Amino acid sequence: MDEFALIRQNFAKAIINDSVALGIGDDCALLIPPAGKQLAVSMDTLVEGTHFPKGAPAKRIATRALATALSDLAAMGAEPLWFTLGLTLPNANQQWVGDFCDGLLEFADTHQCTLVGGDITRGPLTITVQVHGSITPGQALCRSGAQPDDIIYVTGSLGDGAAALAVLQQNITVRKAAQDYLVDRFYKPTPRIKEGRLLSTIAHAGIDISDGLYADLSHICQASGVGALIDVNRIPLSPYWGNKVSRDKALAWAISGGDDYELCVTVPRAQVATLETWIKSDRINATAIGKITHKPEIYMVNKGKTMAFDIEGYKHFE
Ligand code: ADP
Ligand code: MG
Repeated sequence: MDEFALIRQNFAKAIINDSVALGIGDDCALLIPPAGKQLAVSMDTLVEGTHFPKGAPAKRIATRALATALSDLAAMGAEPLWFTLGLTLPNANQQWVGDFCDGLLEFADTHQCTLVGGDITRGPLTITVQVHGSITPGQALCRSGAQPDDIIYVTGSLGDGAAALAVLQQNITVRKAAQDYLVDRFYKPTPRIKEGRLLSTIAHAGIDISDGLYADLSHICQASGVGALIDVNRIPLSPYWGNKVSRDKALAWAISGGDDYELCVTVPRAQVATLETWIKSDRINATAIGKITHKPEIYMVNKGKTMAFDIEGYKHFE
């Protein structure tokens, strides 16, 4: 048996459920899609040195790879079902793969997403995860659904991704508890699956914030042919590092830092009362930060000053 065949056996430990007629081991997996649903499919690739630091622990790389892929399902409002894994390894290190597999399968289990197949090749360390989820037809949170006067909400708080990177690159120092929190947020961001599914019942449009609020909101604006007005003082910032950097830095991280994996959605006014009830009763953590406008530009209001950005990224001051 070749070394990769041995490694493949690690992944065969994946727990399967009723939606899997045939799991890992044959030429294909055989899957049973839920009746009457659409399948939502997305793929993410992480390359060592680009998407995670060289030498990062295997378990942490595994959770990051699956979490970022699951975040795309969350952004659509889909429920996770299955995933496949493309693994490119410089060498067949059993210890590394064992750790990777433990982290991966444990995280997969938490989100009830089953590993059903994959591929292993030799080359520079690269991890590709393809996720499959289900969604009720007509309910997906597409980028193209935003309408003028929708209220823009974000889940959780923004800037943790950029703050985590600053901690990992030793550009800021924070308390041990904050450091642990941030490193965990970087390697194991929580895909907002529950939030996405709830929001898909009321929101017009949605996206997950992987490249920063401004960049991702501009994707919604472009796809929908609209603009946005954001009150930057309403953007929720993390309490974990907020007092360690200047407010301007914190806002810059929240607006243009990436890797937060929170959701940004646009909610029609008629549904705002419902969402606010959910927020008050702790069903969801979300904050209104602005609204969708007709004019295809993104305006950010800060300290009485308005900055206008066109949706291609060009910035000018008013
Ligand atoms: P084939 O030669 O037909 O492509 P492989 O020998 O590559 O098949 O794979 C055998 C089985 O192991 C398949 O079911 C495949 O999905 C599974 N497998 C291979 N690599 C992985 C992986 N990284 N994660 C999960 N399953 C894998
Ligand atoms: Mg085959």
